[in-house]
Formats: sequence, structure tokens, C-alpha cells
Amino acid sequence: MRVMVIGSGGREHVICEKIAQSPSVEKVYWVGTAPKPELEKIKVIWDINVTDFEGLANFALQEKISFTVVGPELPLTLGIVDYFEEKNLAIFGPTKKAAKLEGSKTFAKEIMRGENVPTAEYTRVDSLEHGCNLMDSLGLPLVFKVDGLAAGKGVIIVEDKNTGKEELQKLMESHPDQKIFAEEFLQGRELSFMVVVSKNKAFPLVPAQDYKRVYEQDEGPNTGGMGAFASSDLIDESLKKEIMDTIINPTLQGLQKRNIEFTGVLYAGLMVTNKGPKVLEYNTRFGDPETQAILHLIDEDLALLIKSCINGEIVQPKISQKKAITLVLAMDGYPGKYPKGIEITKCKIKDCRLYHSGTTYQQGKLLTNGGRVLNIVGIANELSIARDMVYKDVKNIDFEGIMFRRDIGWGIDKSERN
Ligand code: ATP
Repeated sequence: MRVMVIGSGGREHVICEKIAQSPSVEKVYWVGTAPKPELEKIKVIWDINVTDFEGLANFALQEKISFTVVGPELPLTLGIVDYFEEKNLAIFGPTKKAAKLEGSKTFAKEIMRGENVPTAEYTRVDSLEHGCNLMDSLGLPLVFKVDGLAAGKGVIIVEDKNTGKEELQKLMESHPDQKIFAEEFLQGRELSFMVVVSKNKAFPLVPAQDYKRVYEQDEGPNTGGMGAFASSDLIDESLKKEIMDTIINPTLQGLQKRNIEFTGVLYAGLMVTNKGPKVLEYNTRFGDPETQAILHLIDEDLALLIKSCINGEIVQPKISQKKAITLVLAMDGYPGKYPKGIEITKCKIKDCRLYHSGTTYQQGKLLTNGGRVLNIVGIANELSIARDMVYKDVKNIDFEGIMFRRDIGWGIDKSERN
């Protein structure tokens, strides 16, 4: 088979690698936005934009691609799956209507309300003044969110009324065309729960936890994710069943009632509160950086798994008992302003896996090309061992401005949890 993977980050890199490991795959075409080092069986195509559906479909026809996997949310919410399906090209991901679960928080909340899926209370914010009044009437902390896609920058948590007005104003000004919501602040443990879905039938993958804030001890602004760990025993069977019964399956039923079929990956960003798990958000694709860890814990041929999912023949994927940790190496300044084009002077890890997020390859040199630059993944029987592997191997990577959290995975082994 020949497979095309769309999107240029670390998530897509691990998807390419895992698909390339399948004996039934002859070639993987990795369509991103920057040249990257070529890998065995993986050819990098960097001159087709991920939203150029015509260009992508023509490439798929020309190269006789067996199926396409879509990494990022933008092409999905713009309808790449509908476009490919119209041309009879096999593709893994939700249609435009189904991807609205991620693309519109209003739609997601509508589905949740209809099916009694537990989530935070919310209300529409009409103006800055209204938002400030809500800070008084509902109390702090209070969460404000934009309705549509915002690449991880569409959420603020207001803890102090004095700075809250300014923060809310900034959020409104940076998303002038989007509706804004105020949402109840939920307390608890965050959990990334991904399922693979074939024609509205869902099968759980490995639960994971990601680290959203830029600095250690969960300080600083939210990012796309600074690290993650995945382990099948992160939650017990009864919580897993509760999530499937009260969140995942009702959500898919809510879509079905609207005649919307979902195939692809559904990601529920959850807060496990003392009243049970509640939805913070849905994503309609693999999460980044959780996927870089999770895919190492699925004991299946990924190419065949995805193919069977597209064909509606999937059964529950086998899950490994191993654990995996992703550490994101970022550029100083991220998630604010940061320089690009800095040479990565040392890049030879030993025991872990390495994935390229924001890199490019120019005239034989590997350069930084984004805020999140590289990901290192450690896989072991114990989380603490995976973590030690990652922090040992990070010494084998260097570029000016390298920045990473030193607390990814601390306190996560059962014996270390309080
Ligand atoms: P992503 O980039 O993951 O798609 P996003 O911009 O869609 O993120 P959310 O996932 O909704 O935003 O929120 C980002 C983070 O903000 C969450 O991971 C969580 O830490 C925090 N958060 C969001 N909503 C709430 C809430 N209601 N209560 C407490 N924390 C929240």
C-alpha cells in the first residue's frame, strides 16, 4: 500500500513512522509545510499546502495512494474528507459536519446538552461589560473561550478581577469574528481520552495526560502541549466504562440523531472532578503531543488498523502494558514570540524515539522552524524508567534557545501519586 499523511508536526511524524513499519506498506508520503530529513520508506512532500484539497487529491490519484490520514484540525474542519470521498479517494478522518465537534464549541455544547453529556456550565458573552458582570455574578476563577479553532490560544482562565478585564479584552480583540463563552471553572485531574471511531462505533486507545502550561509546576500560559504520558493503568476499568457510557457513546449518538457519521479519532479532553469526568473540549483527530506516546502502546499494525477503520471492519485494538512519555523541546519565547531558523547543532538521541515538530532542513542543515521543535519519546515497562530515558537523552540535543519542562512525568508512577 501507499499511504499519504497530511500535516507537518511531531504527531504526523509518529503516524508516518508507525504506518511505515507495516509490512503491507511500500511507501508513506508525508505532506507537510517544510522539508524534513528523508526517512526510509517515508518521502517528504513539502510543496503542497495542507488546505490545497485539489493539489492533495491530484497527488493521491497520481501516486495511487491507498488511503490518506489527516493530522491537523484545519483541513478536517474545512471538509477535506468530504472532498476526497466525492472523488472516491479513501481517507481517515471525520467529515466537515462531524469535525464541527471540534470546530464549534456551540455545536459541541448543543450535542452534549442534547445527550446529557457531563460538561461545564456555560453562557454566551455579549460584550466586555457583560463578561465583567459575569466575573462578579458567577465568581472567580472563570473560564472564557472562543467558539472556533484557536490553536490552543482561545482559552483564558480569569483568577483576578483586576487583570481579568484586560485579559478578556485581549481575547476578544485577538478573535474579533468569534463568539465568546464564559464557562464554569472545573477542578480535578485532566485526562486525554482518545477513541478510534468507525462509522460511529468507538474503541478506546490508551489514556494520556498532557502538560498544557509552558512552565514547570503548571505555571505560565497555555501551549499546544509541553509533554505527555500515556499508560493503560492511568485510569481503572470503571472510570473507562463511565467515560464510554456517559461521554463517548452519547456524543456519537447525538451525531447519529443528526444523521452525521463519524469515522476517525475522537479525542475527549476531560476533567475528572469529584463528581465524575466532564468534557472540557472535543478534538476530532489525534492529539499532539499525546499521540507521540500513545501510538507506541498500540500493539497493532497501524496501517491495517486505519484501513479496517475506514472500511468499517475494526475491532478493539490490542493495548500494550508499557508506558510512554513525550517531552517537547521548544524554543525560548514560545508560546509568544520566538526566532526561527536556528541551527540544531546536536541531534542524536540514543535510547528514545525522536520526532520533528517545528524543524526544516536547508542546505544540509537542520534548523528550527516553530515554537515546538522536537519531541523525545521514552517507552518502558515503568513510567519512571521511560522518564529517566527521556531526560538522559535530552542531553544529546542542542540548539540555542532550547527550552523544556523538567517535571514531565514526575509523580505519575502509582507509588509517586498522592
Ligand atoms: P487545544 O489546543 O487542546 O485544542 P483549546 O484551545 O481548544 O485547546 P481547551 O482544551 O478547551 O482549549 O482548554 C485548554 C486548557 O484550559 C485545558 O486543557 C484546561 O487546562 C483549561 N480549561 C479549559 N476549560 C476549562 C474549565 N472549564 N475549567 C478548568 N480548566 C479549563
